[in-house]
Amino acid sequence: MASVKKLFEPIKIGELELKNRIIMAAMVTNFASREGFVTDRLIDYHVNIAKGGCALNVTESSHVSLEGKRIIDGLGAYDDRLIPGYKRLTEAVHGVGGKISLQIFHGGRECSSEITGLQPIGPTNLVSRYRAITKKIEVPREMTLEEIEAMVSKFGDAGRRARAGGFDGVEIHGAHGYLITQFLSRYSNKRTDRYGGDVIGRSNFLREIIRDVKKKAGVDFPVLVKLNIHDYVEGGITPDEAKVTARFVAEEGADAIIASVGLHESRPYMMIPPMSIPEFVNIHLSALIKENVDIPVATIGRIIEPVRAAKVIEEGKADLVALGRGLLSDPEWPRKAQEGRFDDIRECIGCNQGCIDTLHKMKPFTCLQNPEIGREREFEILKAEKPKRIAIIGGGPAGLEAARVAALRDCQVMIYDKEKELGGQIRVGRVPPHRDELGKVIDYLIRQVKKLGVTTELGKKITPAMIDRLNVDAIVLATGALPLIPKIKGIRQKHVVYATDVLAGKVSVGNRVVVVGAGLVGLETADFLVEKGKEVIILEMLDTIAADTGNANRIYFEDRFAEKGVDVLLNAKVTSIDREGVAYLQKGWAKKILKVDKVVLATGAVANNSLWNVVKGKKKGKIFAVGDCTKARNAMDAIYEGSKIAREI
Ligand code: SF4
Repeated sequence: MASVKKLFEPIKIGELELKNRIIMAAMVTNFASREGFVTDRLIDYHVNIAKGGCALNVTESSHVSLEGKRIIDGLGAYDDRLIPGYKRLTEAVHGVGGKISLQIFHGGRECSSEITGLQPIGPTNLVSRYRAITKKIEVPREMTLEEIEAMVSKFGDAGRRARAGGFDGVEIHGAHGYLITQFLSRYSNKRTDRYGGDVIGRSNFLREIIRDVKKKAGVDFPVLVKLNIHDYVEGGITPDEAKVTARFVAEEGADAIIASVGLHESRPYMMIPPMSIPEFVNIHLSALIKENVDIPVATIGRIIEPVRAAKVIEEGKADLVALGRGLLSDPEWPRKAQEGRFDDIRECIGCNQGCIDTLHKMKPFTCLQNPEIGREREFEILKAEKPKRIAIIGGGPAGLEAARVAALRDCQVMIYDKEKELGGQIRVGRVPPHRDELGKVIDYLIRQVKKLGVTTELGKKITPAMIDRLNVDAIVLATGALPLIPKIKGIRQKHVVYATDVLAGKVSVGNRVVVVGAGLVGLETADFLVEKGKEVIILEMLDTIAADTGNANRIYFEDRFAEKGVDVLLNAKVTSIDREGVAYLQKGWAKKILKVDKVVLATGAVANNSLWNVVKGKKKGKIFAVGDCTKARNAMDAIYEGSKIAREI
């Protein structure tokens, strides 16, 4: 077995002793109250992460003043009234053997009056080019010298509250384009006073904050600083500049640095790297910072494999690894890694769907693969009082997750699927370039159901008569979705095919292809075809691509298609298809694309509910339906519903 020994060596961050090298990366949850107070949901979430074995939990970015709040139900650090809640949280985490630090933050120009009711502020009155949550364009008010000094003090007060609330340390959020980065980066700081200018001037705000936190929380109170080592925008922070800032940070008495990257407007989207970005993407940057400071440095960003994480530490490229999404998809990552149970780790796939996109819709976050996040009590897996025999019809993500959970409850589970392989639509979803990680969702589930003794019967179409004959206690239908065929003149012709069939290799497409629909499936299919050397034109009736997915995917495809010269026609509604080509209406103009070999439909999906419509209501409430066969949506909803029904049966 490859060694992960280095990962489990203790380390000290200032006075704080950590049992291993795995710390949690701060992630915004939307689990706090509207006023920013600790809730039971937030406590349960942190307790669950701590139980998984990471050495140090870190809370989400907690605003030190009200106009610095960025998330509707984000945790606060702005008032002493928050301290009793902190105590409940820290005591609960300590109670399961964990440690926890409070991340303190101000969103600066990334905040919105739609959330705070207050005008955003910043070092300079420059508008952020991209806003993740609200789209309202707001010019931030340039902070006066008095306001800057007062803000330094607010960070110091937040540090004091952290200590009073029982936290084991505080993490100052100086990355990702929020207020502190806005000061650090020439990109957003055009001041000419002592808080602007060269790297020394621009670092003064952060340096004073560290000093004030140490003054108010105590010099022995551990202070971690998350820094951007690269902004990935023109004129932003570069590694050369960041290493100077890192030295200042260490000189001021900070006890550790988390070497992060990216702003919301960076290209590529590096702040929360999606699956198109390789694993361990930032280790060269943590290595650089380590060469320049003598305090522990953590690397962050797509930390996936434990053995590789241990190697990073062994090679001296970082002292710690900070896992964010990796702990959402599997809070037990540390324990499983230590026990060498690598195959049991549910690896984060970098889809950003549950953790980021949900948050940006102002909803509580979750994980596509792990619906227990944020539902820790409700979703605790309890053994069945009377274990049942359960038949699951459909071996896609909903069916597989239902099978996994039911088997964990000691039920006897059988999966039936008309296909010869398990995995449902994800089998084709993993085919396009840079989407293979998606396949890990089913790889994990298939491994687990096999291990748990779930039996399968594949390659046989299930009929209502067969359902009648099944001698089981419960039947779960998870038959998925079918492509939606829009009402377009000429759509039922041989040269019009479905995106899923193209990806499955069931149809060939010729050379010149029109893809109808620029949602995620259409974009992925177009990418797949471009990679194969096809000439691709995309038609989308909306005014944007990737409307059904988040910022990371949109940026990836915009850049990719610009590089490959793919025509993406927006506001283009297809009106008819014939052998000559594809006619469409764009802003009132009738247009036509000629000489098209194949038209690929990526126009959405509909529930595959024909079996459900026949059998529902039969067998006295013993038949259930989950996932896309009730309403076509996505893998996250499918897994959630599969997971839920398996707990309820
Ligand atoms: Fe990872 Fe996707 Fe889960 Fe987010 S939703 S933690 S990116 S698997």
